[in-house]
Amino acid sequence: METIIEPFRIRTVERLQMSTEEERMAALERAHFNLFSLHSKEVLIDLLTDSGTGAMSTKQWAALMMGDESYAGSESFFDLEKTVRKLTGYKHVIPVHQGRAAERILFQTLCAEGKRIPNNTHFDTTRANIEFTGAEAIDLPVDGALDPSREAPFKGNMDLDKLDRFLEETPTEEVPFGLLTITNNTTGGQPVSMENIREVARRYHAKGIPFFLDAARFAENAFFIKKREPGYKDRPLDEIALEMFSYADGCLISAKKDGLVNIGGLLVLNDDALAAQAKNLLILTEGFPTYGGLAGRDMAALAQGLREVLDVDYLEYRLASAQYLGRALTFLGVPIVKPCGIHAIYVDARAWLPQIPPKELPGQSLCCELYLRGGIRAVEIGTLMFGGTDPQTGEPTPADLDLVRLTLPRRVYTQSHFDWVIEVFSGIARNREKLKGYRILEEAPFLRAFTAKLAPIP
Ligand SMILES: *Cc1c(COP(=O)(O)O)cnc(C)c1O
Repeated sequence: METIIEPFRIRTVERLQMSTEEERMAALERAHFNLFSLHSKEVLIDLLTDSGTGAMSTKQWAALMMGDESYAGSESFFDLEKTVRKLTGYKHVIPVHQGRAAERILFQTLCAEGKRIPNNTHFDTTRANIEFTGAEAIDLPVDGALDPSREAPFKGNMDLDKLDRFLEETPTEEVPFGLLTITNNTTGGQPVSMENIREVARRYHAKGIPFFLDAARFAENAFFIKKREPGYKDRPLDEIALEMFSYADGCLISAKKDGLVNIGGLLVLNDDALAAQAKNLLILTEGFPTYGGLAGRDMAALAQGLREVLDVDYLEYRLASAQYLGRALTFLGVPIVKPCGIHAIYVDARAWLPQIPPKELPGQSLCCELYLRGGIRAVEIGTLMFGGTDPQTGEPTPADLDLVRLTLPRRVYTQSHFDWVIEVFSGIARNREKLKGYRILEEAPFLRAFTAKLAPIP
């Protein structure tokens, strides 16, 4: 069979509140044209993020009921510990409330002023937690990682020549550890090859530098290795994942992605002394080591999610959904970041709406139009989110790209939901030259995208 179907049937449903364009216009005005300010019930198809927005399976809901809420020695912890050890091969399993708590604990243990931390590309919370300690976060992506039209099977890789140069020029005592993010979220969710993981590990370890994976999307990365890297086609996904983890000394995981849960995270380590230090910080702000920042039922659902996620049928369906949307948009002439990843499709709004200069926020213009026409909530990843402000004119200064991310929650939407999205794009395509720019009326001194008030430019 050629048709790839959703490898599940639906047992519980959540009603969508249908809305009219008039109602959406009113909501948009009330929200000052910032989609973060909408109520979720005002959104029909929510593609804001894939973080914590997935649907749990019947087995996860059942596990939830079996959660052991004991303060110390929870059975749900021991089940999670066993599952994570089997998945990763690492020794110490430390539960936390979400990925950034693992970052804070590890980085506060190992980073300080004057230290430098290399990565393919740091995710924004990772960078922020490193910089908060006074250390420096260094990005070493392959050339062309940010070129939307460049096709490559493993565009998320770290540039090995840049890493060699960095390690040559930097005194080893300034590099307390190295990172690698799989998949590389910041450059469009692009995967990292097994060869790259192995070679990065070899270079760090040759200098005695510990190596950790930022592994929020480990299952999606393992699946791309199986699909695209020579020699892995017939290997089971759990073996591929175990091999990825085997090259590193531990990992940080935001379980809100491939953990298939709505909240949770993990810090997983081999080093006894480092794990002991991490647990001391854990107790200070997250909780006792057998629950971290989580309820027993959260750990139970997470353990089950981790046992489910390396399912070829599920990942095949997830990739097929992304490619279905990506192909249809390409057919409509909408420029998207190539190749299409698995957790999101990124539309190049700057290229598609050339009449709107970057300082008038083409990405935000497209986001507002998607909401107005079809109740779709996407997210601007461009000048509003990452650009600066010109001190003379007070106008936004452009970010590298003006993208709109359509992020796919896990196991939530079906093909007809994507057909709706495609139809909305098709309508916009017919009069995209009429779309107007936006200006910022009010903004916070940092992370302005979340709270800025905007208005269309007449
Ligand atoms: C989401 C994410 C994080 C942060 O995790 P939270 O659970 O949101 O705190 C860190 N790194 C990567 C690559 C992520 O995708």
